[in-house]
Amino acid sequence: MEQAVKRMRKEFLVFGSPFIGEEEIAEVVATLRSGWIGTGPRVKQFEEKMKEYTGAQFAVAVSSCTAALHLSLLVCGVGPGDEVITTPMTFAATANAVIHAAAKPVFVDVDRETMLLDPERIEAAVTPRTKAIIPVHLAGRVCAMDEILAIAQRHHLHVIEDAAHCIEGRYHGHSVGTMSDTTCFSFYVTKNLTTAEGGMVLTDNAQWAERLRALGLHGMDVQAHQRFGESGYRHYQVTEPGYKYNMTDMQAALGLHQLQRLEQSWQRRNEIWNDYQKAFSDLPIHLPADDAVNTRHARHLYTVVVQQEECGKSRDQLLQHFTQHLIGVGVHYTPVHLHPYYRRTFGYREGAFPNAEWIGQGTISLPLSAKLSREDVEDVISVFRQAFEA
Ligand SMILES: *Cc1c(COP(=O)(O)O)cnc(C)c1O
Repeated sequence: MEQAVKRMRKEFLVFGSPFIGEEEIAEVVATLRSGWIGTGPRVKQFEEKMKEYTGAQFAVAVSSCTAALHLSLLVCGVGPGDEVITTPMTFAATANAVIHAAAKPVFVDVDRETMLLDPERIEAAVTPRTKAIIPVHLAGRVCAMDEILAIAQRHHLHVIEDAAHCIEGRYHGHSVGTMSDTTCFSFYVTKNLTTAEGGMVLTDNAQWAERLRALGLHGMDVQAHQRFGESGYRHYQVTEPGYKYNMTDMQAALGLHQLQRLEQSWQRRNEIWNDYQKAFSDLPIHLPADDAVNTRHARHLYTVVVQQEECGKSRDQLLQHFTQHLIGVGVHYTPVHLHPYYRRTFGYREGAFPNAEWIGQGTISLPLSAKLSREDVEDVISVFRQAFEA
């Protein structure tokens, strides 16, 4: 690969760098000038727009998807001694949130092709202590929700979706955010919609929405914009020891305009996705599976799997090759059960979840941002192809 280092790019292509428009910048400035920078009218407006976009009945903006997952587990009554079934092929936050709720994450292996939770394995892992399932729509591909919801119904389990990658996802006529007990979104910097940091819980359950809101702000029964609003000071009561998980109007200012551009950005990422699928179809690697019928993939991550015995190159060699050619790439993910905390606490080791590990050792995520220019995409394609031609 050495002689192939022919620097075509002048600038490093930062992986997952967000597109921020002039509209966002103007809205943040207007928020600063408004004097109300904390949780207020823009957060409310952002929640309304998310309800409109998805069709969900209630939306509670929070500080992160991790917070959204934690609060969702609490309103579902998950606590000490309970088990929550989820995938090891996710970001650690999914399982960490279960630990935060004092419950035990129980991993089950994924399907190699879709990289998603395998419903048959879920059912086999249900015990009398199981309280909930957290399906993760990895990379933007929606899980087999019909099957998962049927299992949940059979065993009286809650379903909390980790939709950090999947805001634009659709499944059998439903928007992601309208199918389960709660759905959790992330607005972290690299996600399809960013507020720098932020998250949201969608639910159709009115009582839960109220409790989510209280739990996300110290367990207070009156929110800040109600306490200090024009209608006069209102006293509050703390009904339980809640958390500090509220979103600010500074963040919502970004979210409002990111949401307006969401479909347009999806279109652009979909084009890049199709370009990659075509350009890499003859390489000795595993490309993302085709979309299942009657679903929409949110096109969050374009991940391929390379196995050294098949293509002659290790994943880490390829990561280095991209970096040498000034292209930022990602790894999504090292399976959660192989991180030291999970090994130490639950005794997990290599071999526990062979499919997740097969993905974890071979996966590479290529740049897939609406911000990429045509030249950027061409660079990614020729740099990747070059690695196999050398
Ligand atoms: C990013 C991410 C999270 C955590 O989101 P934050 O908003 O950073 O807390 C959770 N799950 C998955 C799958 C993610 O990619």
